Amino acid sequence: MDDCDAIVVGAGPNGLAAAVVLARAGLSVRVYERESTIGGGARTEELTLPGVLHDVCSAVHPQALSSAFFRAFELDKRVDFVIPEISYANPLDNGRSGIAWRDLDRTADGLGVDGAAWKSLLRPLVERADEVAQFAGSQVLQLPRHPLTLAILGLRILEQGTRGWDVRFREDLAPAMLTGVNAHAIRPVPSLATAAAGLVLATAGHARGWPIPIGGSQSIVNALAADLLAHGGEIVTHTEVTSLAELPKAKVVLFDLTPRALARIAGDRLPARYRRALERFRYGNAVAKVDFALSAPVPWTDPRLAEAATLHVGGTREEVEISEADVAAGRHPADPYVLVSQPTPFDPSRAPKGTHVLWTYTHVPRGSTEDRSEAIMSKIERYAPGFRDTIIASSSRTALEVERHNPNYIGGDIAGGDVTIAQLLARPVLSPTPWRTAARGIYLCSSSTPPGPAVHGLGGYYAAMTALRDEFGVTRRPYLGLA
Ligand SMILES: Cc1cc2nc3c(=O)[nH]c(=O)nc-3n(C[C@H](O)[C@H](O)[C@H](O)COP(=O)(O)OP(=O)(O)OC[C@H]3O[C@@H](n4cnc5c(N)ncnc54)[C@H](O)[C@@H]3O)c2cc1C
Repeated sequence: MDDCDAIVVGAGPNGLAAAVVLARAGLSVRVYERESTIGGGARTEELTLPGVLHDVCSAVHPQALSSAFFRAFELDKRVDFVIPEISYANPLDNGRSGIAWRDLDRTADGLGVDGAAWKSLLRPLVERADEVAQFAGSQVLQLPRHPLTLAILGLRILEQGTRGWDVRFREDLAPAMLTGVNAHAIRPVPSLATAAAGLVLATAGHARGWPIPIGGSQSIVNALAADLLAHGGEIVTHTEVTSLAELPKAKVVLFDLTPRALARIAGDRLPARYRRALERFRYGNAVAKVDFALSAPVPWTDPRLAEAATLHVGGTREEVEISEADVAAGRHPADPYVLVSQPTPFDPSRAPKGTHVLWTYTHVPRGSTEDRSEAIMSKIERYAPGFRDTIIASSSRTALEVERHNPNYIGGDIAGGDVTIAQLLARPVLSPTPWRTAARGIYLCSSSTPPGPAVHGLGGYYAAMTALRDEFGVTRRPYLGLA
């Protein structure tokens, strides 16, 4: 292979974002990807039946339209998104549900005596949604650009991340909704890190909604790849990089991989102290995933749930607390928290007429080899009796199989490293530019760098900008929009 200016290892959303930025700056760029297809955690495949398109990993994209990178890239003009009126919903027993509408007031109206408390918690954040999104998409170590917004968010994180979390609520719906959204972080609740993740997601839910791309998550990475190729970049699939020595000469190499993989591949090109720091980075608990093809929509007891693209099927705040504590203690919860996405009502292109797609996962201890199909089906059946009768095919992945599919998900940890406050500050090391490694010309750009997990492309964007500044003297962001 010919030499080039820049190599990116891994064609996930961050790797492709990095490659686009470097190519747009005029560099020759080549991406190496171990799989036969690009996309990492944003692939869409026929996992069950021909013509039925399942998102293999990510499904819902609260940051796709708000991330600074995707805004500059004009993703909204390249990919069609549906923004459901309901951002997320949380069924409880007896046909009751908490529903987070994009409209804050409408949400509060459904929460009875806790409606005012919901508004007082979230309205100050929703009014500053752009600043909240900007903070969430930045590096925590940087000086905050909007200190008042940070203070408002910080006080609410302290409340919802500690035993004070029930202080404003009198009934069970609103706490269940907050706990359902906090539990995305796959950590025990309450905790500061889960509350931070949950409040940022809840704010986005009322401000911009939680978009889903037409055609599935693959549409997002395909748009990145198309732009890269149009600007002279190359993508080489079926190529697993195991050592730096395998790579042709390049001025910079960016790794869309975990710190553990970087330490192994770069070996003694990295100073021993830095390598030890990478090896100390901790990985979190995991998910086991089950995808279903259905003959009918899920028969939710609460019919309004047919309009929700995302559901937190965990039960009450207390039930989610117990299930997440079980996972943290290394157990498989008998009554698990299940994250559900039902895209077909919003995007019929995902399946032949009359067939529906259901995406689910549940939290499990890292490295679990347990098939959680039965636990997931039972949990959904509780709020949708008759669900089992709609299943025509399913595909299950244990946590270990999630890692086999993509080694970035160590033991099934889909966040690229435990999401704790400490590891949000030091991701993977404590530095104002954690994308730059201790070896000249080598960068890390995956979700193991700030701002962490999710499809936003920001880890790739920041890493590429750091490399451009360090090695090519480019300090201004190249134009990334449509010509
Ligand atoms: C089940 C699941 C559900 C998720 N749900 C959501 C969601 O709904 N919304 C959301 O925003 N995020 C979600 N995420 C998280 C999101 O997918 C990730 O945060 C995101 O994909 C991280 O992007 P990345 O580019 O850093 O890494 P990845 O997407 O993991 O990409 C890394 C790429 O590198 C390749 N690779 C690995 N090792 C090598 C090697 N040695 N040589 C060459 N190539 C290599 C991999 O094959 C992969 O293509 C989910 C993840 C999973 C697994």
